[in-house]
Amino acid sequence: MEHFCESHSSESNSLKFTENIEGIDEWPHSWPEGEISYRLNNKTKDVLKERLQHKAVTVSLRAWQLRIRKLKFRRERTPGASVDFNVSFEPLSHFDNMKGVLAHAYFPGQGDISGDCHINDEWNWTTHSALQKLSTPPLVPVLIHEFGHSLGLRHDTTAMDSIMYPSFDLGKKKNSLHPRDVARIQERYGARTISQRIIDYFRNRRDMGWDFD
Ligand SMILES: [Zn+2]
Repeated sequence: MEHFCESHSSESNSLKFTENIEGIDEWPHSWPEGEISYRLNNKTKDVLKERLQHKAVTVSLRAWQLRIRKLKFRRERTPGASVDFNVSFEPLSHFDNMKGVLAHAYFPGQGDISGDCHINDEWNWTTHSALQKLSTPPLVPVLIHEFGHSLGLRHDTTAMDSIMYPSFDLGKKKNSLHPRDVARIQERYGARTISQRIIDYFRNRRDMGWDFD
């Protein structure tokens, strides 16, 4: 069986995240040191501009990238070229027609599907943090959470403000990693030094904005 985390809507204006893993151990697999390629394959046909969809994926991966040393994410622009993280908007049928499902992502160490993230195109996603509600769920925090699984993290119930907490109250801005998330990802992939982070920040500052609608 393939292991993943799936995000669902809930009645209390929050999102719930569910892992289909038994037991409480940490996930045993990580990615080997080196490059991780990614590409957004199927775009949504909603009003969300294609440029913003690509940016949401890049910004979400960068939240992790800025903290770790052993992995380097690279956007693959060639359609059809093999990549590690295949990201795609998928029709409702992909999610067994379960309208409540927002997205799911696969843990590493499971062959080709590892790291892939599928987003339910049935939802009217937004990239603007001020518009968070169930009718327009926020794409970036959901992607940061799901990519945490793609990298091998399981849920963290010790800090409600961590991105890997198993629920997320809409309207509450949750756009960066909690110290718990940082400590956990650095345990797997090493810590990026302050000077590396400053270089990254200035190199990428045009793309650092969170509200890019
Ligand atoms: Zn999850």
